[in-house]
Amino acid sequence: MREKHVVVVGAGMAGLVSALLLSHQGVKVTVVDKAPAVGGKIRQLHPNGFAVDSGPTVFTMRWVFDEIFSAVDVSLDRLLKLSPLPVLGRHAWADGSALDLYADPLASVDAIGRFAGLSEANNFERFCLKVREVYDTLQAPYIQSDSPSMLQLMGALGPKGLGVLASLGAMSTLWDSLGKYFADARLRQLFARYATYCGSSPWQAPATLMLIAQVEMDGVWAIEGGMHALPQCMETLAKQRGAHFVLGQACQQINTSAGQVTGVTLESGQTIQADAVVFNGDVSALRAGLLGGSVSRATKPASGERSLSAVTWSIHAKTHGFDLDRHNVFFQNHYASEFTDIFKRQQLPQAPTVYVCAQDRGLGLEPPAEGERLLCLVNAPAVGDKNVLTDEAIEQCQHNSFQLLQRCGLEVQTSASNTHRTTPTVFNQLFPATGGALYGQATHGWMSAFSRPTAKSQIAGLFLAGGSVHPGPGVPMAAMSGRLAGAAVMDHLGSISRSTRVVTSGGMLTH
Ligand SMILES: Cc1cc2nc3c(=O)[nH]c(=O)nc-3n(C[C@H](O)[C@H](O)[C@H](O)COP(=O)(O)OP(=O)(O)OC[C@H]3O[C@@H](n4cnc5c(N)ncnc54)[C@H](O)[C@@H]3O)c2cc1C
Repeated sequence: MREKHVVVVGAGMAGLVSALLLSHQGVKVTVVDKAPAVGGKIRQLHPNGFAVDSGPTVFTMRWVFDEIFSAVDVSLDRLLKLSPLPVLGRHAWADGSALDLYADPLASVDAIGRFAGLSEANNFERFCLKVREVYDTLQAPYIQSDSPSMLQLMGALGPKGLGVLASLGAMSTLWDSLGKYFADARLRQLFARYATYCGSSPWQAPATLMLIAQVEMDGVWAIEGGMHALPQCMETLAKQRGAHFVLGQACQQINTSAGQVTGVTLESGQTIQADAVVFNGDVSALRAGLLGGSVSRATKPASGERSLSAVTWSIHAKTHGFDLDRHNVFFQNHYASEFTDIFKRQQLPQAPTVYVCAQDRGLGLEPPAEGERLLCLVNAPAVGDKNVLTDEAIEQCQHNSFQLLQRCGLEVQTSASNTHRTTPTVFNQLFPATGGALYGQATHGWMSAFSRPTAKSQIAGLFLAGGSVHPGPGVPMAAMSGRLAGAAVMDHLGSISRSTRVVTSGGMLTH
């Protein structure tokens, strides 16, 4: 039988997973990425020459990677050093209050009791039971399903399906639902922030997104060498299985003939024939026709709004004052205004929440005296393709963000040379047709989770993988979508092998 060839466009997490799993099964794989290194959003910048993780920093759901590595006969633990973080997150407010959440739930209960009183500690325990229930209920029929639909979910939930969904909070917003658990405004604010993990507003996201709290309570790990070590390791594994990488070269067109994918054309003009293509960019690039007219209808039109973008600062600097842990969130007092600014006014938030990943901390580490590596992030509207964010507006956002840190007691000695800023405009250049949206389509409204495209596109031989595709954004979720795309490609290759078999008088002959 002729060797089957698959081109994977994009070496983000999902593309790497597809490439690794397919090459392990003996498929010839070529991975093409316009970036000079693998990883996509998992990227490093080098302020002052120090490698700073400048994309995802919170690594959760390690079981997804345990499964993927074991499927290619290697052990995640033998290849990468993962250390569980005892403190999941440190949260601070300008009034001087601060709360740590811990990997040990009882430690979190105690901390919440000290922070907001016994009744809120009890409420947190109630909340924990609910998020466990939401996670356990939706894990198999939704998160792990290859093509979830409302009908299928109802089937899985049984005769009381709609009632079960309602009781999980699918029809109410995360913000409203949290009001039933927490009287303390800071706790409501803290847990509402989980909506932003998939680029959404707590005021519009369904309460089922509280399951992200469970994901975090199940463990957050630090990867030795930084997040970037993960895609690098996967690139090596895929190469060992024969995958070929073409980096620094954009795919200009996905080619089709008679409605079937035939390969890709790169920006150099080179054409690569393929039996299937996995597209790991954002599906909005397909819809915008950036990969050619013949695949612009590979998915249904977008049915919702873009998710959050961000302004980030990758920094190597000395800090003073506030005792940072690995993951820190600094909250402001006008929480709703952040999301009104971003989603309604399409402008940078006047009062941003600031996330700071202190990459030399956690696990009892002390940062080096000469300076430490930080990623600071604030949410922003995905308008990076609209030329509306002025330099003044970005400077103002930077001022407001670092002023909030100061009010919470943290001084960061930033300068032009030790800080690398990334805006929605840059994110839009890195991830075309997104406007800088980092998490696909926002999860707004209770049906939105069903409107993401699935691995199988509407064009034969074209498969989709990544954060804009089911089951959604986040490193482990993108990895799961890469696995689903890999499986769908294998089915497709099997079916085209069967259809090219010709029955002869002597038996089966395979082309
Ligand atoms: C600042 C930031 C912070 C985040 N924080 C977290 C976090 O803490 N935890 C978490 O789990 N997730 C986080 N995320 C989300 C997470 O990073 C993403 O959901 C996930 O990495 C997306 O992977 P992906 O498979 O969709 O590929 P992507 O990372 O989107 O990569 C797609 C790749 O396709 C390439 N590409 C696109 N078009 C073409 C083309 N035409 N030709 C060639 N190549 C092309 C791009 O260059 C890119 O390399 C964060 C994201 C960002 C940006």
